[in-house]
Amino acid sequence: MSNVFPRHCHAQLPIIANGDGVYLIDTNGNRYLDGCSGAAVSCLGHSNTAIATAVKDQTTAIAWAHTSFFTSAPAEELATMLAAAAPGDINRVYFVCGGSEAIEAAVKLARQYFVECEQPQRQHIIARQQSYHGNTLGALSIGGNIWRRAAFAPLLLTNTHHIEPCHYWRWGQENESPEEYGLRMANQLEEKIKELGEESVAAFVAEPVVGATMGAVAATAGYFARIREICSQYGVLLILDEVMCGMGRTGTLFAYEQENITPDIVCIGKGIGGGVQPLAAMLCTEKIYATIANNSGFFQHGHTYLGHPTACAAGVAVLQEIEKHHLLARTNDMGQRLKESLIERLGEHPHIGDIRGRGLFLGMEFVTEGKTPFAPQKKIHAAIKKAAFARGLMVYGMGGTIDGDSGDHILIAPPFIIEESHIDELVDKLADTVHDVLG
Ligand code: PLP
Repeated sequence: MSNVFPRHCHAQLPIIANGDGVYLIDTNGNRYLDGCSGAAVSCLGHSNTAIATAVKDQTTAIAWAHTSFFTSAPAEELATMLAAAAPGDINRVYFVCGGSEAIEAAVKLARQYFVECEQPQRQHIIARQQSYHGNTLGALSIGGNIWRRAAFAPLLLTNTHHIEPCHYWRWGQENESPEEYGLRMANQLEEKIKELGEESVAAFVAEPVVGATMGAVAATAGYFARIREICSQYGVLLILDEVMCGMGRTGTLFAYEQENITPDIVCIGKGIGGGVQPLAAMLCTEKIYATIANNSGFFQHGHTYLGHPTACAAGVAVLQEIEKHHLLARTNDMGQRLKESLIERLGEHPHIGDIRGRGLFLGMEFVTEGKTPFAPQKKIHAAIKKAAFARGLMVYGMGGTIDGDSGDHILIAPPFIIEESHIDELVDKLADTVHDVLG
């Protein structure tokens, strides 16, 4: 009997033994091509020696020291690297251990900023339906994923509100261009701000490319520009959640670079630690930081493992590896190749409605025909995940793609080091899986 409390009580999971580039190997010697980097995490694969060495060296020197007593060289270095890379006035970095913690920090900072700006009436947070921002109660309250929220609804914050997401393929009207649709969706933010009271909203939270809940859905051109305009007009902070889509996954270090906007706060996670260390961060503008610094001088937050030196050392190594091996360009090239290859092999399949995404952050949505979803009870996403895994391929499946109940998709988000031969293997295995499960 196992004493581990697993994610799913009845799943029989193999035991992981080793990693080899884009492959994971279990204790029986079975190899799995990691087509989703776990959950868009292991961006450099599973046997990167530069990160392993950085972690080893840091733990040998000093693994951890409490941030109320010390700062550390890796935290300082990583913050400098991130601030230099982030377009806009994003200048301060608050390191945490996971994406949910980053979102909690972002929202608390937004609130404290307004308290210290003498605008304490700003107490509402607006986000989008079909978004995921984490599983802690605050982050879950902000997320708009119905099935994840349902059981905990009585415990969730009541001052969070949701507008519709921006997904033209699913919801654009026939007589409407993508730009018109995007503008209509973005304007829902203005309507919601007016409904709640023009000076009562603290922040709007959104994923630049929606990951787990909708399956790699980018907004239409101009959507985020209009969102930025509305936030600035009404003094609302724009918080971008790049926990899944950031750190090179979509082909630019920050996903928002492709929207030509800058946020007030951005959250990163997953890829920044390369899967080697649990690392995430909340980054904010100098203006927000200065408001806290010049007033209370203390962000009323904190966790024991803030700014963990070993995790930050892994983060430094990840960014160095991305730069040294030109992995952003590679993500674009390989992403393009992978997407074209998936479209060529599976684009005409009657049960595949859409293949989408940016860089190495791709999604595939399953349908009975056209855009009609399968019955949720069929759990097509789970069947695809299971059948692919049995073939030695990992893809990230999720249901409730459309409304938290119906719809099935998979995320395909392999490590940035993927090679052409791996792409062929991935597409072959996925095509066989789809044909087996869906005919
Ligand atoms: N935000 C987004 C967009 C995510 O995809 C996730 C996790 O999947 C989170 C936040 C929460 O991150 P974590 O699971 O590290 O707490």
